[in-house]
Amino acid sequence: MAKITMPRPIVEMDGDEMARLIWARIKTELLHPFLDLRTEYYDLGLPHREETGDQITRDAAQAVLRHRVGVKCATITPNSQRRAEYRLTKLWPSPNATIRAALDGTVFREPIMASGVKPAVRSWAKPITIARHAYGDVYSAVEYQAQEAGTAELVFTAASGRVFRKTVHAFEGPGILQAMHNKDSSIESFARACFRYALDKKRDLWFAAKDTVSSCYDQRFRDIFQHLFAAEYAALFKEARIAYRYALIDDAVAAAVRSEGGFVWACKNYDGDVISDLVSAAFGSLAMMTSVLVSPHGHFEYEAAHGTIARHYARCLRGEETSTNPTALIFAWTGALRKRGELDRVPALALFADALERSVLNTIESGRMTGDLACLYEGGAAALGLDGFIQAVREEAEAALGRSK
Ligand code: NAP
Ligand code: MG
Repeated sequence: MAKITMPRPIVEMDGDEMARLIWARIKTELLHPFLDLRTEYYDLGLPHREETGDQITRDAAQAVLRHRVGVKCATITPNSQRRAEYRLTKLWPSPNATIRAALDGTVFREPIMASGVKPAVRSWAKPITIARHAYGDVYSAVEYQAQEAGTAELVFTAASGRVFRKTVHAFEGPGILQAMHNKDSSIESFARACFRYALDKKRDLWFAAKDTVSSCYDQRFRDIFQHLFAAEYAALFKEARIAYRYALIDDAVAAAVRSEGGFVWACKNYDGDVISDLVSAAFGSLAMMTSVLVSPHGHFEYEAAHGTIARHYARCLRGEETSTNPTALIFAWTGALRKRGELDRVPALALFADALERSVLNTIESGRMTGDLACLYEGGAAALGLDGFIQAVREEAEAALGRSK
């Protein structure tokens, strides 16, 4: 079986803990046997971010801008406990936030559905894709802890010199403050990415926010979506027989639970963070969700929606076998390889990605799966360990790729 070659590299961003161990296993067992894998490697593991003063993350983001396709392992976003654990000189920012700030754009997260694995919400028959705005809001907010009484003001000095000033609160004692922003240009590209994605997938689009309470901030999002829809997308939606609707976020949550799924749900940055975890867990497992960041200028960064799976890593360090599900990390690689194949016109890469994804699903659908899914499987199934599951996928992939020759 001749190995598939790649004319251009993928930007590979390695990560931390359990996800890092799985990353290496995927490359050895499921990629190298079939591909002459070409990557430009960036180690975003926390020790290396510390060593480089986080320059490595900024370099990786620039590399994605150069090569257009990246794949990222889960990384630790340090808090004070991690700072002590890793003896950090600084609380380095979340690598995802650095990369999203460089690329702008929208994160699309979609459940990976395997037959036999029943969603917790019984009415969900089709996937719900979360489209998460990846710029601004609380992720780049300025915060302040006031230690004494005082007045907080919101001040905007226009380039023309005009000044807007409004009291936020007159504190009678200590308290906390937060100021966040977004840009019309970023909201517009978010809206366009969502309209285009819905048209591409031929699925209804919902956008949900809280404009009743946030009558300037959220209202601006709602207006930009509505204006672009009416001006550029309404006719295309009609032709495709799909709909766009705006809903209040609390109404949308209730409607989503009563729906059969099958729509794209556009969310502001924080809502998308929380709701995508809720949706993936309700569809089965955090490890059964794909995640891709699409920039307005056509850059793509694939990752898993879950983190570094710290609890499993702790067990692994004690020498225990874990039943950790590598599916989302495998699909991050297949997503990146498929996109590389599409951009460079190498159909063999896309065919390989399809075959590897099918091998994962065949493995699960034939009753071989990790513990997170085994407890949801119709009729019950015995849980495999991480290595057992990867071996089963490798056998499926060898059979499929052998047959296709
Ligand atoms: P997590 O890695 O998402 O895992 C939370 C729990 O979800 C796990 O303990 C496990 O539950 C289950 N789970 C997640 N992925 C799984 C998988 N592949 N297979 C089986 N079960 C899975 O979150 P965390 O452990 O709370 O966070 C660890 C670190 O990840 C944090 O330092 C955080 O900063 C980072 N993080 C990174 C990203 C990213 O880079 N994209 C995203 C989120 C969090 P059970 O223990 O019950 O089995
Ligand atoms: Mg999250």
